[in-house]
Parts: sequence; C-alpha cells; structure tokens
Amino acid sequence: MTQTILIVGAGILGLSHAFAAAKRGLKVQVFERSATPLGASVRNFGMALVTGQPPGEMLDLARASREIWAGWAQQAGFDLKQNGSYLFARTEAEEHLLDVFCQGRAREFGYRAELLRGADLDRLYGGQFSHHRAALHGLDDQQLYSREAIPALIGYLQRELGVEFHFSTLVSEVEPGYVHTTAGSFKGAQVIVCSGHDYQTLLAEPLASLDPQICRLQMLRVRPKIDLQLQHALMTGLSCVHYGAFADLPEAAAVQADILRDSPHLDRHGIHLLVSPTPYGDLIIGDSHDYGRDPSPFNGEQVDNWMLQLCEQTLGCEVQVVERWQGVYGARGAKPFTWLQVAPGLSAALMQTGVGMSVGPAMAEGNMARLLEEL
Ligand SMILES: Cc1cc2nc3c(=O)[nH]c(=O)nc-3n(C[C@H](O)[C@H](O)[C@H](O)COP(=O)(O)OP(=O)(O)OC[C@H]3O[C@@H](n4cnc5c(N)ncnc54)[C@H](O)[C@@H]3O)c2cc1C
Repeated sequence: MTQTILIVGAGILGLSHAFAAAKRGLKVQVFERSATPLGASVRNFGMALVTGQPPGEMLDLARASREIWAGWAQQAGFDLKQNGSYLFARTEAEEHLLDVFCQGRAREFGYRAELLRGADLDRLYGGQFSHHRAALHGLDDQQLYSREAIPALIGYLQRELGVEFHFSTLVSEVEPGYVHTTAGSFKGAQVIVCSGHDYQTLLAEPLASLDPQICRLQMLRVRPKIDLQLQHALMTGLSCVHYGAFADLPEAAAVQADILRDSPHLDRHGIHLLVSPTPYGDLIIGDSHDYGRDPSPFNGEQVDNWMLQLCEQTLGCEVQVVERWQGVYGARGAKPFTWLQVAPGLSAALMQTGVGMSVGPAMAEGNMARLLEEL
C-alpha cells in the first residue's frame, strides 16, 4: 500500500518536502492554516542565491536548489529570472573585497561570478550603474516573484503530482503518524512539521531546545520613475558583511569598519539593500533586520527612508512607494537549518537563517531520502 506523508505548512519548506515525497511515489497531504500561504515564503525577495552562500553544505544545497527551481518554473509556469545578480561595489573597500573574492574563493570553490568594471560596467542598462566602482555578476543567482510562484507551485503539485492540500486548516496537535486539525484527524506513515517561525503551536518543547529566534524585516515595493526594466536582482557591498561567501574573508573587516564609521544606523538596524524586480516593472526592496523572540508590529518610518535612500543611490533614479509590509523568518540558530526527528513517524524541518528560498528545495530532498530509509 502507498505510504502517506502528512505535511504541516505550505511555505517553501512544506512544498519542497511535498515535492520530494510525491515524486518518489508517496501520497502527500499538506495542511495550511490560511486560505493561501501568507508566511515568509510569499513576503520575501524571491532571490534564490548561489553566489552569497558560504562554501560547503550551503553552497552545495543552493546549487542543487537552483536546478529544482528551474524545473519547477518550467513545469508550474511561473516567472524565473536566470540572468543572475549584480552586487555593486560603491567604495574602495567593497571593490577590494570583491576583487579578492574573485581571485581566490570564487576560483577555489567554482562560484560562477565575474567582476565588471570600466566599459563593461558602463554597458549595463545604458550606463545607469556607471556611478559604481564595480559590479560582481553572480551568474548562478535566480529570482522569482514569490507571491505568484508559490501559488503556481501549489497548483502544479496538485495537478501533476496529486498532492492534496487542506487550506484554512489549523493543525493543533501532532503525534507520530497523526495530525489533529480543525478539519478532523488524519493518519499517515510520517508527519513533517514545516510551520516556519511559529514555535509555539506545535512541538513547542523540542523546538525550545533549539533556542529559536526570529528576524523581522521591513519591506517595500517601489516603482522606478524612469523606464528601467530591471531584469537582475541587485545588491551592494553592504550585503557582503551578511552573506557567508564574503563575510569571513579578512577584507570584509574594512567594509564593516566603513559602515560603522559612515553609517552606523545601517549596522544598528541590520540594513543592507536588496532589490528584486517583479515581472511587472516594480521592484521589491529592503531589508532591515530586527532580531528577538516576538515580532514587533511597529515599523520605523526612518528605517524605510534609509532603505529608500540607499535604493535611489544604487539605482541612480527616484522611486515611488507602492506597497509596504513586514516579513518574519526563523533566525540565529546554531546551524542554518534543522531537521529534527522528534520520534519515529514525526519530524520537523525549519530554517534558522534567512535563505530558505535558496536552499530549501534541495534540503528537502536530503530529508526525504533519510526518511525513506525509515519507511
Ligand atoms: C522579508 C523576507 C525576505 C526574504 N528574502 C529571501 C530571499 O530573497 N531568498 C531566500 O532564500 N530567502 C529569503 N527569506 C527567507 C525565506 O523566505 C524563509 O527562510 C522561508 O520562506 C521559510 O520557509 P518556511 O516554509 O519554513 O516558512 P513559511 O513560509 O513561513 O511557511 C510556514 C507555513 O506554515 C503555516 N503554519 C504554521 N503553523 C501552522 C499550523 N499549526 N497549522 C497549519 N499551518 C501552519 C503558516 O501559515 C505558513 O504558511 C526571506 C524572508 C523574509 C521574511
């Protein structure tokens, strides 16, 4: 008889595990408390970043996830930009760091990235970014519009792989092989909890041992006041002190020292600029980082203003705000993600750093392979 896998949560982790299980011929049911997923997976930039990942497991997972996203985009029919990202060096320290990265780590670990300067930089978008010193073109980085891609992926899993979804269904309790929900109880061979940064409703005790924290981010959607038609994800050297590919290089210290000297407010609020184009010409911009146990509901207008200022400087044009929201993700774990086997027949998968879109799909493949050994 075909085994059934019960999954809690229809964010990227829940959907990735659903895909990994269904393609192996298992019967899958997904339980989501809202009518459509509204968590971190639809509030993000949709960047599936390879270039920013540290060498080792995260880089391997991001590379493998890249292939999975490409397949999903084709089969589910959502927009996936495969032109890569540009990370702009605005200062001497940022340029030096990127240079050292390209000469050393990028070659050693096979990052597909090139540093553009001079005429090559001037050619980008008709010279729109010529005011920067250099641009790191991360060739493997992909970008999608999450609020469309996630529902499209759900449709594909339903249609093509027979995954059954129970929306507007809160899971109030789990035990090995069972989920108890607002729509009744269900039985399966395995339960996988992918409930994002909700650490209180399910498995509160085992999750508490991981000392889970959250990060709250302020986000905006803006419209450039020129006809930019951006087709790449953008970052600046500020991101280098956040992303593991660069942050531990000795040259990153000078970038951090510049930030602390010239713009300590950016460090205080964890602001580094990310820009993601939507398929409609708008740009998703952010982000700020505010860590804790509970997300404060209060957005600081000054934080938005600093991000808008950075955005306009980076783009070299004014923008108009169209929409604002906040996103929350699991953060600051001892490890970037956790696979918790609570008991035979009951596991949990959670991200503890903000790159679930970049590594989640391949991470789920590994988890599912491990689980299948148990079945
Ligand atoms: C603003 C922002 C920007 C980001 N940008 C990026 C990026 O560009 N690239 C990247 O790689 N990562 C990014 N991240 C991180 C990434 O979005 C997360 O790591 C990832 O989405 C986490 O996925 P998840 O499935 O664990 O959580 P979620 O997407 O939050 O999904 C959890 C789901 O479980 C459901 N749920 C919870 N409890 C229950 C219950 N008891 N019963 C039923 N359903 C339940 C919730 O409703 C929710 O839909 C960003 C995150 C944020 C917030």
